[in-house]
Amino acid sequence: TLESRGVAAWFGDRLVLEDVSLHMPAREVTALIGPSGCGKSTFLRILNRMHELVPNAGLAGEVLLDGTDIYADGTRAQQVRLRIGMVFQKPNPFPAMSIKDNVLAGLKLAGVKCDDKDQLVERSLERAGLWREVRDRLGAPGGALSGGQQQRLCIARSLAVRPNVLLMDEPCSALDPTSTRRIEQTIAEIGHEVTVVIVTHNMQQAQRVSDHCAFFLAAENEPGRVVEHGPTEKIFSDPEDPRTHDYVHGRF
Ligand code: ATP
Ligand code: MG
Repeated sequence: TLESRGVAAWFGDRLVLEDVSLHMPAREVTALIGPSGCGKSTFLRILNRMHELVPNAGLAGEVLLDGTDIYADGTRAQQVRLRIGMVFQKPNPFPAMSIKDNVLAGLKLAGVKCDDKDQLVERSLERAGLWREVRDRLGAPGGALSGGQQQRLCIARSLAVRPNVLLMDEPCSALDPTSTRRIEQTIAEIGHEVTVVIVTHNMQQAQRVSDHCAFFLAAENEPGRVVEHGPTEKIFSDPEDPRTHDYVHGRF
């Protein structure tokens, strides 16, 4: 289980998130939805300690992974990021590195021993829905793949280190329908093994892939907050807050 408690975030003197307390159950898929600028990406970066890489960024509150504060003294951000992987909107494989080495790129960092690298590469690519397309050219550079294939390569790279959590920030928004479908299949498969948190602007996608939804909203000149969270079905069919209803039905 991944949980935030009373998280607030700011850049310089501007508060952008306030009082975000969210429970993201283990081995289930949570979708973060809400209009542009309400702090979804910021929240995702807080969940794997990337927020602290931004100059002038501030943070309050707690993030617990299986009950342990990922910001506790003595916890290294590097270790946290290996347990909590991230996939971005724009695919970022190492372009000159081979497909195979891209998949293995996180292992050394993670200190993960692997007896059978070929099997790990195959399995990771398989889970990311890319194996069949690249099995005959694992030595080709990652940069030679299409955008959608690159994104699936990035997912394979994240999965190879066996993270507890996979964070995905609009992973399909720049992709073709086939890659999008493959990635949704991957989420459906890994969603029972890994805790997934996905940001999406696509309401159909949120309904297809997630078990839970959190609706973020920032009123004008106000920080973003979670208006409502709950089972995806309820958020879409019977939300508590009229603003949630309006948002999921495309009214703003
Ligand atoms: P979108 O749906 O467009 O991706 P979002 O919900 O992911 O939006 P964030 O990117 O988290 O929103 O941004 C939340 C607020 O924080 C915005 O007002 C944004 O301008 C501000 N912000 C984000 N990153 C930085 C930064 N590095 N420095 C200063 N302000 C930032
Ligand atoms: Mg964003």
